[in-house]
Amino acid sequence: MSKAKIWLSSPHMGGEEQKFVNEAFQENWIAPLGPNVNGFEQDLRNKLSANKEVAALSSGTAALHLALLQLGISIGDEVICQSFTFSASANPITYLGAQPVFVDSEKETWNICPVSLEKALENRIQQGKKVKAIIIVHLYGMPCKIEELTKVANKYNIPIVEDAAEALGSTYQNKSCGTFGKFGVLSFNGNKIITTSGGGALVCPSVKDKEKTVYYATQARDNAPHYQHSEIGYNYRLSNISAGIGRGQMLVLDEHIQLRRKMNLFYQELFSNIEGVTVFKEPNEDFYSNHWLSAILIDKEKTNGVDREQLRLAMEEENIECRPLWKPMHLQPVFKNAPYYGGNVAENLFENGLCLPSGSNLTDDDRERIKQVILKVFKV
Ligand SMILES: *Cc1c(COP(=O)(O)O)cnc(C)c1O
Repeated sequence: MSKAKIWLSSPHMGGEEQKFVNEAFQENWIAPLGPNVNGFEQDLRNKLSANKEVAALSSGTAALHLALLQLGISIGDEVICQSFTFSASANPITYLGAQPVFVDSEKETWNICPVSLEKALENRIQQGKKVKAIIIVHLYGMPCKIEELTKVANKYNIPIVEDAAEALGSTYQNKSCGTFGKFGVLSFNGNKIITTSGGGALVCPSVKDKEKTVYYATQARDNAPHYQHSEIGYNYRLSNISAGIGRGQMLVLDEHIQLRRKMNLFYQELFSNIEGVTVFKEPNEDFYSNHWLSAILIDKEKTNGVDREQLRLAMEEENIECRPLWKPMHLQPVFKNAPYYGGNVAENLFENGLCLPSGSNLTDDDRERIKQVILKVFKV
């Protein structure tokens, strides 16, 4: 019999989720609105503690779409986006007929480089392009260089959309990721730090912006007894059933962050004696990562040729899931015509990086199995 699969990141229920779901059944709130939706939004507001409003939506992708829509982005506009990310950060730009412009990462946080960002902005503006927003991403839970990025964005007076889909619970200078941009995006997909089976949220600057978000997310109905519409809307609201799972998950979020951070420490210790491998961690005290995924970078010049693919395959053999880092958007066939600014930081990360099992539900046995493969591959 083969060994049980160890996942990169799998759903981890706290135990109270079904209670909230049962309440929804008892009260017949089987709809994309209800007490769980309101309660979940309130829980998220409390967690972010930044005087922001939260609109619960059907996905993080939907949240990004509605953020860009409300920033007035349309055909012919440009939106700058971190290249090193999941495609969901960039896809909504194209839903609105706008052009994505990709920017490289810097080496400390692996997120968008403030210097390359400024070069991109200068060059696009010189060419007479209308850059309407900047999408920054906190990958793997690591906050990006908010201070430098905000400075550049303010200089050119362009709003930031903060993709915090992987960073619920991460902070920069003690402030929550998702609360720095004009809009912030959260995701509760199956493999994120908390899950509602599928869902997302838009963090909004005011009650008015939240109301507008909910309006667009519920087919843009005008205020009338009949169904009247003056604008195009979407069906993007979160279901009251999913939100019930979310309320249960919020009860264990802090505990799960601590467990993910422990996984990161486990890898830091494990690799401390292995030449040529660095575990991704915060550059200094300003940064606090939820360590949604733990990742390593392998310098094969220093590992006697062991590369990320060799490690990945050895893990796969033992039924342990690992995954290369995100393939940058400027290398994706679908975005091959999009402009790109920067060097090869993101490309190097993709070539040499690997995400390791990081779930909050991993056991001592799982860790031992992971450790044995790593010791074997690196011959320690
Ligand atoms: C998961 C994710 C999204 C999209 O969220 P969904 O809820 O899956 O639509 C967007 N950006 C990043 C960086 C993500 O990891």
